[in-house]
Amino acid sequence: MRPIANPPPHVYTTVGLDRAAARRRDPAWLAERRRDPLSRVVALDDLRLFVVDRPEGPDPFALEPALLGGEIPERAIFLGLLEDRAVFALDLEGERPGIEGRLVELRALSPLLGAAEAGLLAYARALAHWHRTHRFCGRCGAPTETVEAGHVRRCTACGSDGFPRTDPAVIVLVTQGERCVLGRAPRFPPGMYSTLAGFVEPGESLEAAVRREVREEVGLELGEIRYRSSQPWPFPQSLMLGFRASCVGGALAVELEELEDARWFHRAELLDEERRPVRLPNPDSIARFLIDEWLTEG
Ligand SMILES: [Zn+2]
Repeated sequence: MRPIANPPPHVYTTVGLDRAAARRRDPAWLAERRRDPLSRVVALDDLRLFVVDRPEGPDPFALEPALLGGEIPERAIFLGLLEDRAVFALDLEGERPGIEGRLVELRALSPLLGAAEAGLLAYARALAHWHRTHRFCGRCGAPTETVEAGHVRRCTACGSDGFPRTDPAVIVLVTQGERCVLGRAPRFPPGMYSTLAGFVEPGESLEAAVRREVREEVGLELGEIRYRSSQPWPFPQSLMLGFRASCVGGALAVELEELEDARWFHRAELLDEERRPVRLPNPDSIARFLIDEWLTEG
């Protein structure tokens, strides 16, 4: 049987990280960790990761306290403990540390990293995005400030607390016998087809969201829906909830507002990598996992 590239826990999930949430409210301990030469820093700017090129590859953990004036800045977010070393995320906000480096996208970097590192960087990216987009209070409009080592933003006027957002989205491989449905959105790279997906709306169960999205996007009715696994997707702030569902009715009709095409594909035509008529999603995605898992059952 062919190996599946990205089994659960999927890439971008934190693994082996002790979030040490109680330490977020321990300023003395945090101050020590910010000066500890063993602490690690994930630096970002504009949601891209700052890496230093080494002979063995790009290093996203090159910034130690010594390169930051002896202390990790107080605004850095405490992510947790990895192998007993504190890890912080730092948004450079246009500044550059005293070492030569460059900014790279997480999705370009992740194939070169281990699971623990990729998960940590995804977590850092998600929090950096949240901070960048929640500088003002949603209730009264006053500026917010960072508390609890970067895990809460508190309004400076009305005192209301805001917490990091994660938006649930369902993603589903629809099958019928030896066939599955894949669709193509205009934003996809040329030739790529993928599973169907959409955000869960307020008041909706996950199963209802799966049925609605599939009906809206391709006009098909579903029978059994089976949950498979989930994947944090910090691009910028989703949690993908992966399903397999069987089609029991309807005729494939593409909703052109969301997709530019959708088709039934036979398992045999997708299995043969050389003759596959379309490009499948990147191996870092749960979309690809859902497709690969079904293909290996053939
Ligand atoms: Zn407020």
